[in-house]
Amino acid sequence: MKKIICLHCDMVSLVPEIPKGYVAKCTRCNHTIEKHNNANPAIILALSITALALLIPAFYFPLISIHLLGITEQTNLLQGAFLMINQAPMVAFIVLFCAVIAPSLMLGCIALSSACLTFNYYPSYLPKILKITAILMNWSMLEVYMVSLMVSMFKLNNDAVLFFDIGLYFFIALLVINLLIISRYSNHGYWERYING
Ligand SMILES: [Zn+2]
Repeated sequence: MKKIICLHCDMVSLVPEIPKGYVAKCTRCNHTIEKHNNANPAIILALSITALALLIPAFYFPLISIHLLGITEQTNLLQGAFLMINQAPMVAFIVLFCAVIAPSLMLGCIALSSACLTFNYYPSYLPKILKITAILMNWSMLEVYMVSLMVSMFKLNNDAVLFFDIGLYFFIALLVINLLIISRYSNHGYWERYING
């Protein structure tokens, strides 16, 4: 049994070990307060190293080519954000932060904390890394960028000829691995391992 405080209503509950596939809910407000912890740092470490390796080709190689009036233009994610700097610097910064900086830092932090827990190494900076990861998870929006890219491709399709470029395949692979990491990673579970380790 362990004591857990509900983040929504501050109710203190005693929760037993949660079996796989079950969750514990607050008796007062019915929010989930504890899940079965199946985060495996070794698997998450392997996935996050793969994702980190995919970051450079996904951001650097062109995503799409646009053929319009006899001219073909290629663009990648970074160029798209930098193009907006003069007209809409705030939007350019948000795109850069949510689609490049936050996902890259988040994957780096998850890789580092997973490596520490896999090799039973508990440095003094690990709590800071776990806190930063929890914040970055709210700001990493690769899937939002993908949806906006698909919408703009759909809109442009009437006026220009579009070709998918190699960067798009790397970006989709990055998106899938990022989703796998997010679905397996548990910040709470990592804290528990750190405290018990
Ligand atoms: Zn509650």
